Amino acid sequence: MSGKQGTGREEIIRHLKRRGSLSGGIVYMDPGARQPVEKSETPAPASAPGEIIVRTSPAKSPAALDVDLAELEKMVAGCTRCGLHETRTNAVFGDGNASSSLVFIGEAPGRDEDMQGLPFVGRAGKLLDKMIAAIGFRREDVFIANILKCRPPNNRDPKEDEVTACKKYLARQLELIDPVIICALGRVAGQNLLGTRAPLRVLREGVHHYNGIRVIVTYHPAALLRNPNWKKAAWEDLQMLKALHDDFMVEGT
Ligand code: URA
Repeated sequence: MSGKQGTGREEIIRHLKRRGSLSGGIVYMDPGARQPVEKSETPAPASAPGEIIVRTSPAKSPAALDVDLAELEKMVAGCTRCGLHETRTNAVFGDGNASSSLVFIGEAPGRDEDMQGLPFVGRAGKLLDKMIAAIGFRREDVFIANILKCRPPNNRDPKEDEVTACKKYLARQLELIDPVIICALGRVAGQNLLGTRAPLRVLREGVHHYNGIRVIVTYHPAALLRNPNWKKAAWEDLQMLKALHDDFMVEGT
């Protein structure tokens, strides 16, 4: 982890802890950012020393599908919009508390998930459970979903047409769940959720928005299993996630 990233995270956490006693606030550059998150009447320019730069993203737009979660799950189970339906055992809709303030988004189901029809139930899932516990939640408190609902053969990266075909399912899930914050797990989840090709190193640096919902990006648990030396940086990402989440719960009620 570079010193710059560490400083940014520590600064955000310090800043959030100080909120209420200082006049400044987080500068949200996204017009779709959820309210109330801006405390300052007249926010300082985004470049002011000590301020936190938050990346831009498109404003909120309604998801195309007008169905409830149960109906959406049925649509996903029978989906044939891309070639992955031919090789799947089960579509993996997502799992957890559908009213949660916190949603984790992975890349796509792997072998175990394809077999069971549930997200993150393999080795990476066990580590994700620990990551969730590390910030004071139980797995059943949060909602877990993926960019793709069906397993790509041999766990290859999702193809663009597959992401496009699946996009509206996730968009509707997130519209219905309407969490306070989303944690994207890994480069593929972060890039596809946010519609960018920025590398993970860059994605991890700031707070992003998806349709007005805050997003932070951290390492995929499978990557942490391969590279345990990244766990410290992931821990810092999770602390920032927790601070942003709790800040909204306090300031937003
Ligand atoms: N990896 C993912 O990205 N998602 C899962 O559901 C399981 C492993």
